Amino acid sequence: MKKLLATIRILIELGLIAAVVVLLARPPSAPALWRSSVIYGAPTKEKIAALTFDDGPNAVFTPELLDVLDKYHVKATFFMIGREMEKRPDIVREVLRRGHVIGNHTYTHPHNIELDTETQVIRELDTCETTIEKITGRRSHLFRPPRGLIDSTVFMVAEEEGYPTILWTVSADHHDAPTPRAMADRVLKHMRPGGIVLAHDGTFCTRWKDVAATPLIIEGLRKRGYRFVTIPELLKERGAGGFIYKIKAALNLYPKM
Ligand SMILES: [Zn+2]
Repeated sequence: MKKLLATIRILIELGLIAAVVVLLARPPSAPALWRSSVIYGAPTKEKIAALTFDDGPNAVFTPELLDVLDKYHVKATFFMIGREMEKRPDIVREVLRRGHVIGNHTYTHPHNIELDTETQVIRELDTCETTIEKITGRRSHLFRPPRGLIDSTVFMVAEEEGYPTILWTVSADHHDAPTPRAMADRVLKHMRPGGIVLAHDGTFCTRWKDVAATPLIIEGLRKRGYRFVTIPELLKERGAGGFIYKIKAALNLYPKM
């Protein structure tokens, strides 16, 4: 009996060693396409929506927007520019204090990041991230490229640094929507469950329109049965459908509105 138990123990140990050898012998990582994460929305039938605001913090529009979001008890995600954060660290901290999420929108917001070298892209992401950490004491884990422009370099750098690249389902800012009402109608028209809404709280003085459109967007979507989540909450919805979704996203099958 003792001999049998010893034999079984040896067999189990050999099995464990074999498993470790197999695991170590695997390629260090899967091909980029399979790991890639370009997010246009979440694959869900649940009526959830994520509001996102780019290019802040702004001295006027960001505080106004925070009051609107508080009024409706909505939490949103702000993709901030590092250089702007340095000018207004108090507003950055206030955004966090009110329960919103901050994402990396590069340090200088290059107009054509897809034309930048790998070194430049890395510097843009890292410097913004350092700024976020310095002001808030935490990392962002989310990246949105300026103007939503990505090429293989931007994509790979974000991927290698561990950021999902967050784009959007529908933009409130568009030349075909010149007023807050038209902006809200545009969002309501193109929205789908799991969708991400893009709006802005910085760079241009016309952002008062985004602030004015936000209550209309919230009220309109709520009337249609939507509830609001932050981007990290939305990403949790990628569960079962995430695999097919990832492939579709990587192949750009989701239209950009
Ligand atoms: Zn931007």
